[in-house]
Amino acid sequence: MIGKLTVSDAHAHASTIGLGAARIASKFKEAGGWFISFVSLPPHYYGLTHSFEDIRRSIDIHVRQCGEAMRVGIRVACIAGIHPAVIDKLVRLLGPSKYDYLRRGILNIIEYLVGLKVRGLIDGYGEFGRPHYKTLPTSIVFNEMIMIKMLEVLRDYGGVLHLHLEQGGNISVDSINTVSQMLKAPKAKVILHHSTVAMAIRADKHHMSSTIVGRKDGLKELVINRKHKPELVLVESDFIDDPKRPGAVMYPWEIASEATSLISEYREAEESLYRIMVDNVSKVYGVDPY
Ligand SMILES: [Zn+2]
Repeated sequence: MIGKLTVSDAHAHASTIGLGAARIASKFKEAGGWFISFVSLPPHYYGLTHSFEDIRRSIDIHVRQCGEAMRVGIRVACIAGIHPAVIDKLVRLLGPSKYDYLRRGILNIIEYLVGLKVRGLIDGYGEFGRPHYKTLPTSIVFNEMIMIKMLEVLRDYGGVLHLHLEQGGNISVDSINTVSQMLKAPKAKVILHHSTVAMAIRADKHHMSSTIVGRKDGLKELVINRKHKPELVLVESDFIDDPKRPGAVMYPWEIASEATSLISEYREAEESLYRIMVDNVSKVYGVDPY
């Protein structure tokens, strides 16, 4: 039943220059939200630079934001990391001669994230992955090295890992499946963020998790047109909380109205949507609404 406290958002952002996590969480709760996963943003969303120190500060700000959202009284997962676009910027800025310096700086931040995870201050890592746009080949390679490191961290310290990828369809999904298997990373805890419906179905086949944007069209394509029984598919708003781009990608509370609208047209969608927004969240994040 999609109704009171059964709507979830498995990937959203909160910025200090936007609404902020507490307001987002309380508006989401009013719309029937029971669970939201907040993922840290690149440092400039908090008015910071891309220095290692500021990246660390951005993570601290994000953890504080998560704490404020938790006080609203819904389940919150706190996810922090270094976005592939930030790593890309640093690779291009510093160049190959500063590679060792860059690598050390990033690994120190990863060590910091592990410390937060061990202390229970974060529930997972993200976004990591590969840029979705054309850039230097070395930037893709370095991002991938960091992603491999994060799959090892996931294997050794638990939690979940949100991956931002190039939207390359089955190639993207299969490449993550292969590398996760090689590293013996827990595949169900690897979340392919911003997946297409086709990618989400492929990820399910490999027992990997995915998030699709919570629009009616995509949900309909998945559970009605393709008749897919979602095992590890989750729904996301990918709300970026940027006052310059209001409502992008969508507001978390819109997930509820999109789902309700689909169910009013197709009663049979209800069971699958419940799986996506409750059962699958419990499986992937280990949280229970009851
Ligand atoms: Zn995102």
